[in-house]
Amino acid sequence: MAYEFERTHRLAILGGGPGGYEAALTGAQLGADVTLVERVGVGGSAVLTDVVPSKTLIATAEAATSVGEAADLGVQFFSRNEAGRAVKPEVAVNLGAVNQRLLLLARQQSEDLKAQLLKAGVRILTGEGRLDGPNRLVVSTGTGRSRTDFDEIDADTLVIAVGARPRILASAKPDGKRIFTWTQLYTLEEVPEHLIVIGSGVTGAEFASAYLALGSKVTLVSSREQVLPGEDADAAKVIGDVFARNGMQVLNKSRAESVVNTGDSVLVTLTDGRTVEGSHALMAVGAIPNTTGIGLEEAGVQLSESGHIRVNRVARTSMPSIYAAGDCSDFLPLASVASMQGRTAVFHAMGDAVSPTELRNVTSNIFTQPEVATVGWSQKQIEDGIAQGEIYKLPLASNPRAKMMGLKDGFVKIFARTGSGTVIGGVVVAPKASDLILPIALAVEHRLTVDQLARAFSVYPSMSGAITDAARAMHIVG
Ligand SMILES: Cc1cc2nc3c(=O)[nH]c(=O)nc-3n(C[C@H](O)[C@H](O)[C@H](O)COP(=O)(O)OP(=O)(O)OC[C@H]3O[C@@H](n4cnc5c(N)ncnc54)[C@H](O)[C@@H]3O)c2cc1C
Repeated sequence: MAYEFERTHRLAILGGGPGGYEAALTGAQLGADVTLVERVGVGGSAVLTDVVPSKTLIATAEAATSVGEAADLGVQFFSRNEAGRAVKPEVAVNLGAVNQRLLLLARQQSEDLKAQLLKAGVRILTGEGRLDGPNRLVVSTGTGRSRTDFDEIDADTLVIAVGARPRILASAKPDGKRIFTWTQLYTLEEVPEHLIVIGSGVTGAEFASAYLALGSKVTLVSSREQVLPGEDADAAKVIGDVFARNGMQVLNKSRAESVVNTGDSVLVTLTDGRTVEGSHALMAVGAIPNTTGIGLEEAGVQLSESGHIRVNRVARTSMPSIYAAGDCSDFLPLASVASMQGRTAVFHAMGDAVSPTELRNVTSNIFTQPEVATVGWSQKQIEDGIAQGEIYKLPLASNPRAKMMGLKDGFVKIFARTGSGTVIGGVVVAPKASDLILPIALAVEHRLTVDQLARAFSVYPSMSGAITDAARAMHIVG
């Protein structure tokens, strides 16, 4: 009896950010024939312009803050002048060197990822790609003048992971000199004298926080009533208070109508006629998906009104052979979600065991000082009756380790299902909240109760002790 051998699954991926990169690695692991098309660099915007550079800059900002706050713990910095008197040195940041370091780090990370893909057997094509129907990518690898400048890749499965780019307002066009998008900021050689940040969402708040710590005067223009609209209200209040205490000017309920480079400054005109003058402006007014003009609709892929690709929980689009991962899809714009979607898409396409992505369980973090990490249901959803739960908030000021470290701001908040005590969500506002949130995320993912969470040993004294203490306080007397 003759056996027909299974044909190798051909997987073609458009975009080499976390979504595309993870899809490619997973495909290679499962034995697919994988081609990845990327026009700029492996790692995508996440590595080259967004996550890696911004979080590296924030690491420097945190170091600057630690130096500044060390005096509270009794550390003194001084040098002696010629008369032998102690003088206080200035804390200064060499932004040119900082930016050089972070761009190098981003390039290295991109090269590392590329090497990892090549080692796994992934074919990488550098060029601009688009779909030609539901089973083919066309890639322009040269000037596009001759036929040989194009490659065609036929595939059983396509994964689209083309990401997003900064939204540009016609009346506030970034010029890369005084008016920037977040991708252009890293050309700065010196800390801006006065940075005006337009937009108080996650990106705006993170850069405003970082530049304040680096020594800029910062004005944050927020169209809402507070910074971080849509986030946990107590967390947003802490961040708003810390910003104000550190001298940031936050203009709430203000919209920028125009931003103009006047030559030696920027002039921001608000819709109510007020003006703000600064040395530089950062536009952080959202992102738009890179989904136009790449043959998606022609291939039968449905897009949302905002241009995002509609996907289900296994990242499949309206076309069975096409999946989409990351910021170009209508899921959450996070690198971790993009990676999860990329893996899930390939597991599903290739018939491996697959767990649909549960957006409710996504952990996210805002890298301000302090950080804000959240997971699961929110307090607002509980208060609005969408979820039934108890809420408990433990201020960090009561945590022994926080006291030793001189921390003034922050809290741990846990949400637990009424009656059963099952942990359904939580918020941590603290330095390194991004690391502290994991026990709550594990509890949410595995449906642990507050008692089970409280039973785990936390180190004494530790910040994570605030989590077990909060869980313990939520014990339901049986
Ligand atoms: C300032 C900032 C900070 C952030 N910080 C965090 C963070 O700390 N944690 C977190 O989880 N998320 C963070 N994010 C979000 C994160 O960057 C995105 O969610 C992530 O990059 C999405 O990955 P992706 O694979 O969808 O796309 P991307 O990383 O955007 O990659 C898409 C790739 O596709 C390529 N591409 C696009 N079109 C084509 C085409 N036609 N042909 C060939 N190639 C193409 C692009 O060149 C790009 O390399 C941040 C975002 C910003 C703006």
